[in-house]
Amino acid sequence: MNLQLIIAVLFLSFASCSKTDNDQNNTPNNSAVNQTLPPVVQKNYITENVVIIVIDGPRYTETWGDTSHQYQPRLANSLAAQGTVYTSFYNNGVTFTNPGHTAITTGNYQPIDNNGRQIPYRASIFQHWLKDSGADSSKAWIITSKDKLQILANCTERDWQNKFMPSANCGIGGNGVGSGYREDSLTFKQIENILNTHHPKLTLINFKEPDASGHRNDWNAYLNGMRNTDEYVYQIWNMIQNDAEYANKTTLFVTNDHGRHLDGHLDGFVSHGDNCSGCRHINLFAIGPDFKQGQVASMYREQRDISATVAELMHFDFPTGKGKVMDELFK
Ligand SMILES: [Zn+2]
Ligand SMILES: [Zn+2]
Repeated sequence: MNLQLIIAVLFLSFASCSKTDNDQNNTPNNSAVNQTLPPVVQKNYITENVVIIVIDGPRYTETWGDTSHQYQPRLANSLAAQGTVYTSFYNNGVTFTNPGHTAITTGNYQPIDNNGRQIPYRASIFQHWLKDSGADSSKAWIITSKDKLQILANCTERDWQNKFMPSANCGIGGNGVGSGYREDSLTFKQIENILNTHHPKLTLINFKEPDASGHRNDWNAYLNGMRNTDEYVYQIWNMIQNDAEYANKTTLFVTNDHGRHLDGHLDGFVSHGDNCSGCRHINLFAIGPDFKQGQVASMYREQRDISATVAELMHFDFPTGKGKVMDELFK
C-alpha cells in the first residue's frame, strides 16, 4: 500500500466512525428507513417535563375552525402566538373517549371498550418513560375527570402488565373506574395540588367538558364547557411558567379525544363515535421551549403522533408506538 492509499483508508474509516456517532444520536431507524423525512433537528432538548391536556369532545368547527375563536379565547389570543396550531389533526381510530385517549398514550389505535372494562394492549408512554428513566411512580400522573380513564395506567402487553405504572387520580375522589365523573373544577384543584406536591415530569389531564354537556343536548352548556376548559388550560400554562421546576422547560400539548357529529348528521353535536369528519377532525396545540412559536401547521397529523413526539422529547424508546415524530414543531 502506498502512502496515499493509507491516508485515504484512514480518512475513510475516520469519516465512517463519526457518521455512526451522529446517527446514534439521531434515531438511526427513522432517518435510515424514511429517506423523505428530514432528520430530527435537535437532539438535546430543553424540555424536561411534558403535560398533555385532553379536552373531551369539542368539534373543530367550534375550536380552531371558528375564526372568531369565541369559545377558546385564551388559546387563540394568549397562547397561540407562543406555539403551534394544527389545522389538520385527526382521530383515525374509534371516536370515543377511551379509544381516543388510548391512541394518544400508546400510539396505537385499539377498539377498546369505552366503559373502563378493558385496559390497553400496548404499554403507554408513561410505562416506557418510567422504565427508561428509572423514576418512581410519583413522577408520572394521569389526572382525569372521567373515572374510566384510569385504564390508561396499565396494559395487557407481556412484560409490561402491572409494571412501571404511573400514579392515577381519576373520577370522583380520585378513586378510579366505577367512582363516576368528577366536576372539572375539582379535577383542576387536584391538578394544582399534584403538580405542586410531586412535580411530575409526565402528566396527562382529561377534562370531561364539553363532552358531558353535549350529551345532555345542552348547546349553551356545551359552549360554556369549552370556555371553562380553555380557561383551565391557560391557568395550567401559567402555573407551569410560574413554577421554578417547570418554567421554560416544560412542553404542553392541548388536544381532544374525538370531535362530534356535524350538524345535520344523526343527532349533530349531541353524540359522536363514527367516521364523520366532525368526529374525526380535532384540535392540537403544542407549546414548549423546543417548539416553534406562532406557527400554523396544515400538514396531516394524527393522535398517535403525540406519543412519538413525547418519546423524542423525553429521550425514551417507544418501539410499539406507531406514530411519527412531528418534526415541524421543532425549532
Ligand atoms: Zn362523549
Ligand atoms: Zn360523527
